[in-house]
Amino acid sequence: MASYQQYLKSTKSEIQETDTTAVKRVVDSGAPSPVIIDCREKDEYVQGYIPGAIWISRGLLEGKIEDVVPDRSTPVILYCAGGARSAFAAKSLQQLGYLDVKSMAGGYTAWKRSGLPWKVPTVMTPDQELRYSRHTLLPEVGQAGQIKLLEASALCIGAGGLGSPSSMYLAAAGVGTIGMIDDDVVDATNLQRQILHNIDRVGQPKVDSAEKTLRGLNPDLKVKKYQTRLTSDNVMEVLAPFDVIIDGADNFQTRYLVNDAALKLGKPVVHASIFRFEGQLTVFPAEGSPCYRCLYPEPPPPEEAPSCQEAGVLGVLPGIMGLLQATEAIKVILGLGQTLAGRLLVFDALKMRFRELKLRRDPKCPTCGDGVDRSKIELIDYVQFCAGA
Ligand SMILES: [Zn+2]
Repeated sequence: MASYQQYLKSTKSEIQETDTTAVKRVVDSGAPSPVIIDCREKDEYVQGYIPGAIWISRGLLEGKIEDVVPDRSTPVILYCAGGARSAFAAKSLQQLGYLDVKSMAGGYTAWKRSGLPWKVPTVMTPDQELRYSRHTLLPEVGQAGQIKLLEASALCIGAGGLGSPSSMYLAAAGVGTIGMIDDDVVDATNLQRQILHNIDRVGQPKVDSAEKTLRGLNPDLKVKKYQTRLTSDNVMEVLAPFDVIIDGADNFQTRYLVNDAALKLGKPVVHASIFRFEGQLTVFPAEGSPCYRCLYPEPPPPEEAPSCQEAGVLGVLPGIMGLLQATEAIKVILGLGQTLAGRLLVFDALKMRFRELKLRRDPKCPTCGDGVDRSKIELIDYVQFCAGA
């Protein structure tokens, strides 16, 4: 019968090893493959790991590898603390049909001893594991995706009809920080659609009411409140800390400001607007094209713009469009699926019909067209022509 040392030696002779220098090159390249897998136990992983590595503890490796690396020809590098467990793991993956598996000799101990960069991971608490289990059960989200959401931040422009469902579902989904900007107070006419608020909060600032509702849904959440209107003076400062902007503004001047500032900052915007029985939705990607001005280069003259108070809106409509905004924001954060970038979704509630229009970048667009230096875009405060929605 073989001793442990003999068994380890014979296993290592049957697998390929790599070293920390080669793994450092993989980390620096930022390429999606080879996939680096940390197969240590949780108490080891939480103290630090190699940036870019995916953690799957040794005991769960065979069961989870197909979710993380579905294609068996994808190269995989495994590491543990010293290079023994990862050698056994490499042999096991070979037996599962993985064609290019290597174990990092010396493991994480050698990595740290060489002074190479490492990170302390964000890990979920037991409460969070329970709360988000229906997310983490989805292989496309998993623990890593949920942690991305927890570390992400989204800014809702407006705590009204669109901002209500989008912020509530983002809070429930575990997006860690939600910003709310709105200068208004809760009014009885809001309650037909703005489900963040309730009858007891009439007269209170909408951002305060929003914070109460959102933190009631998810006490982990950080809420950043801005009880003000966006202007050319504050828009850069307000948008800058957030990963994704959810534009639920009820007026043209804010939409242009958000578009132009987001282009300067390289932030993605999930845009929606509503009118009577119809809603529109699209995503302006972080790369900035096509953008809102490709769609509408200039605002309509004030006399032609619909007055929101007179126009009226079906109460459920912003609910539908705001939920679609939350869906797109989550996809943007997770890098999942296909967003509406380059497509305009138009919803007609009366016909219960969704249509899709292709959006093209306008080479002459004043903010994202050919030769435009986005850092030099000038922010414009258009005359306000639609107050309440
Ligand atoms: Zn444009």
